[in-house]
Amino acid sequence: MLHSSERFDVGGVGVSPDHYIGGRRVASPRTFEARSPLDWSIKLADVARGDEATADTAVSAATAAFPAWAALSPAERSAYLHRLADLIDANIENLAAVECLDMAMLLESLRARVIARGALNFRNYADLAAAHEERVWSSRGTLNRVIRSGAGPTVIITPWNAPFMLSTWKCAPALAVGNTVILKPAEWSPLSASVLADLIDQAGFPPGVFNIVQGIGEEVGAALVADPRVRRISFTGSPQAARAIGAAAARNIVPFTAELGGKGAFIVCADADLDAAAKKASGQYDDSGQVCLAGTRLLVEASVRDAFLQRFHRFVDQHRLGDSRDPATTISPMIHPDHLARVDGFVQRARANGDRIVRGGRALEAGGLWYEPTLIEPKSNASEVVQKEIFGPVLTLQTFADEAEAIALANSTEYGLSGVVYTSDAARAARIGRGVRAGTVWVNTFLVRDLTAPFGGVGVSGIGREGGDYALDFQADLKTLQILEGSVR
Ligand code: NAD
Repeated sequence: MLHSSERFDVGGVGVSPDHYIGGRRVASPRTFEARSPLDWSIKLADVARGDEATADTAVSAATAAFPAWAALSPAERSAYLHRLADLIDANIENLAAVECLDMAMLLESLRARVIARGALNFRNYADLAAAHEERVWSSRGTLNRVIRSGAGPTVIITPWNAPFMLSTWKCAPALAVGNTVILKPAEWSPLSASVLADLIDQAGFPPGVFNIVQGIGEEVGAALVADPRVRRISFTGSPQAARAIGAAAARNIVPFTAELGGKGAFIVCADADLDAAAKKASGQYDDSGQVCLAGTRLLVEASVRDAFLQRFHRFVDQHRLGDSRDPATTISPMIHPDHLARVDGFVQRARANGDRIVRGGRALEAGGLWYEPTLIEPKSNASEVVQKEIFGPVLTLQTFADEAEAIALANSTEYGLSGVVYTSDAARAARIGRGVRAGTVWVNTFLVRDLTAPFGGVGVSGIGREGGDYALDFQADLKTLQILEGSVR
């Protein structure tokens, strides 16, 4: 194995292209290119392309570090997580600059919210794990003590669309309960994880506790999840990759969570505040629609279709496609030329199928990786654009006659990650909220989250729940100590 390589200048930040394993930078003989979606002609770095040997080294480091890390008290581990959170907050500018160039999320939102949320993820889990290490109660003459203890090395595999936020959200609970971590970021947006590795180093984590391995999913990712020393696998990405990873988890009898794709319904009832609903609906194009939780199927009560659509167009007209570093931009470019072509493929097949393209429907003429905000009225609910996750700036518009039809349409895909309902009637909100088959349903708002609430999907949107105690219980080995009352002093 080779040792550390030259750093690349990414937006003024020196970014290592190497893995971070056992507290050291480690290179690989092969690399892959990281390019910027802001200008595809710009190569940002040649990133280490991990292989089976890399995976073996990383799992060995995490296995060796596990006993001492797990033996620390939750309060001692919490101190490391807080130190890392402070370092993230102190490095918001660098992390935002790198993430923006690497995957094109809007610079302003990275600076204002997204990177700070990464710090919050570590603080939140540091405090939660320290506060709730044990649950104790009496029953049937015994004292029940339920203890969370570390399970071993955890492999965490993340997608390209919210790399920093999702990686920190998933790594924090694993570390907090005493697991050691190997993070494998997506090959389309690997660079903020490398900045994170520098901060892990500065925070003084013991070597091997928190490792980052770069590379391709089917190569180093597959080798990591196949290693029998790994005791937890936490995955966010596509159902297709989840099937392969889940099969590896099954072979080793390893608990596995999967946060997968979505095809959220955005339901607008006739009694809703139509301006608020239309404004939020136009926000489903943010990040070029590359958001798993997006409400991509607009379901509008037939009597207000035209009134809603008029407002929707007015808000969408205000969007500005542009460079993600420009504060005037509201819609960023898409991640990769292959993904742009994939999204366009859905739209062109819809056109050929007889679905009506209401607006948009093509890549920006000027070039680059921008795709016009697109709205499609499908020929039927069976249309591919209604049934399949597109993961781009493409929404569909359908109408419903009554609540029962709204719920039936909302539940008519194989996904079940999220939903949105706009209504001014509390009882109706509760009925539709209960009726929609999804892990999270927002009423008259979108994307607001309490980090202690359960988060996850049903159907092909996933297995398991993250958030608060749910993630801690997944990552930990839960043990019940049952002590006969009065038998010990
Ligand atoms: P992807 O499944 O292609 O890749 C995700 C990660 O898995 C990458 O790091 C990749 O390298 C790795 N991978 C792929 N095949 C693997 C294998 N066989 N073994 C091990 N690792 C493997 O997904 P993507 O295109 O990066 O992300 C987009 C998808 O993620 C969309 O479906 C989106 O909805 C979903 N997503 C879900 C959530 C959620 O919380 N539910 C959040 C964000 C994104």
